[in-house]
Amino acid sequence: MRYISTRDNNTSVTPSQAILQGISKDGGLFVPEEIEKIDLKNLVNMDYKSLAYEIISRFFTDFNEESLLEAIDNAYDEKFINQEIAPLVELGDIYLLELFHGPTLAFKDMALSILPYLLIESKRINNMEEEIIILTATSGDTGKAALEGFAHVKGTKIVVFYPEEGVSKIQKLQMDTQEGDNTFVVGINGNFDDAQNGVKEILNDDSFRELLKDNHYRFSSANSINIGRLVPQIIYYFNSYLKLLRDGKITKDEKINIAVPTGNFGNILAAYYGGKMGLPINKLICASNENNVISDFIQTGLYDRRRELSLTTSPSMDILVSSNLERLLYHLGYKDKELKRLMRDLTHNGIYEIDKNKLDEFYSSYSTDDEVESTIEKIFKDYDYLVDTHTAVGINVYEKYKKETGDKTKTVIASTASPFKFGNTVAKAIGINIENKSDFEIIEDLSNKTNLTIPKGVRDLKDKKITHKNKCEVDQMEEQIKRFLQIGDNDV
Ligand SMILES: *Cc1c(COP(=O)(O)O)cnc(C)c1O
Repeated sequence: MRYISTRDNNTSVTPSQAILQGISKDGGLFVPEEIEKIDLKNLVNMDYKSLAYEIISRFFTDFNEESLLEAIDNAYDEKFINQEIAPLVELGDIYLLELFHGPTLAFKDMALSILPYLLIESKRINNMEEEIIILTATSGDTGKAALEGFAHVKGTKIVVFYPEEGVSKIQKLQMDTQEGDNTFVVGINGNFDDAQNGVKEILNDDSFRELLKDNHYRFSSANSINIGRLVPQIIYYFNSYLKLLRDGKITKDEKINIAVPTGNFGNILAAYYGGKMGLPINKLICASNENNVISDFIQTGLYDRRRELSLTTSPSMDILVSSNLERLLYHLGYKDKELKRLMRDLTHNGIYEIDKNKLDEFYSSYSTDDEVESTIEKIFKDYDYLVDTHTAVGINVYEKYKKETGDKTKTVIASTASPFKFGNTVAKAIGINIENKSDFEIIEDLSNKTNLTIPKGVRDLKDKKITHKNKCEVDQMEEQIKRFLQIGDNDV
């Protein structure tokens, strides 16, 4: 299988090269040349790891069996506190797909626990000598999950940029206390879009790439622009469907809806790929927060980022430019020069338009912060079950969908983070007084009221040393990297 750049049909690379590069030199993203259908019949009784192999091996065809099996074994082990890896919880007429049982308590662990192994193997396959520098922009969760995955991994260093004002306190603490000499964390004076833009520009800067090469380094990315992030995210959608089938909740070939709280369009794109592989999907329900660029786009075909980014209680979705939409556009038939033109329009005019009829597979709407709080409260009251703010967006938008359409199709909703990561909003929503309390006091209260154990990844933060204090302006990201790597004129 080859991977093609969304912006140039003539750029074609192997799977391991696509993983190493992260992004194509023309600014496009790598997409699989074709997506093979898979026979569900043969998968029904598989556990998570076997299923992972079936799916990943179809995409990363230049990896040998042994190395893939080893990567999967190392990724999905006891660091996931739930043996099922991604359990499914039935709440009334919905099924919550819990994706937050990994070490950093958000769904990003599902792919970032395996990406380091995929990258190291890609390096071996291509006889690459240089050390890999993982560049990451984060709206809060990718950063910590990537740090956790790459800390202490030989032959790699990892740099994370997060918006200083745009992440939750727990998210910030998780990153600022990261251990490992090969890690570097910087808070930027800007928002997630600034961070992501900066990272993309650096990845595509020829002279910087040369400077790195002269110093035996090479960039790659841990963001979902990297195809190595997306493919492992397909596994859990299959896993949840097969579980519903095994448990007799659905019959053979019965379609389901999948609802996903969406920021960079990565997680829902993985579900879309699942559909292309033969997962019976009725609707993909794309849930936005108040930064509702994507939900406007799906409703009208018009993508318009000309608005202010709001800081919401679901910060991991505070994004105006969703990178992976470019991959969807490609699969919808906008390729090559035409796609290049759309992306140029987006950069220069902040806007582009496509035929909205092409987006029929999707439904989209958005939730306000108030709706998020009332959803958390209602789910807790009705089911004695606690959801985080992002998951609440998914549930609330699904409710809107059901009301508008009357559709009774069984629906799986991606539950993307532990409520303890966003303790303040969650606690307030279920009636805990949070005035004048520290974050850790609030989390204690939350645990007492819900009888849920505080996850280790949050509890341990209290006693950890702050190891990263770097701050910078948006236009200083390159200098920061030079300083960390001690290359170029690094007198910042
Ligand atoms: C990253 C993230 C999202 C958004 O996922 P995308 O793949 O960027 O669309 C939603 N919820 C949480 C908790 C996240 O960390």
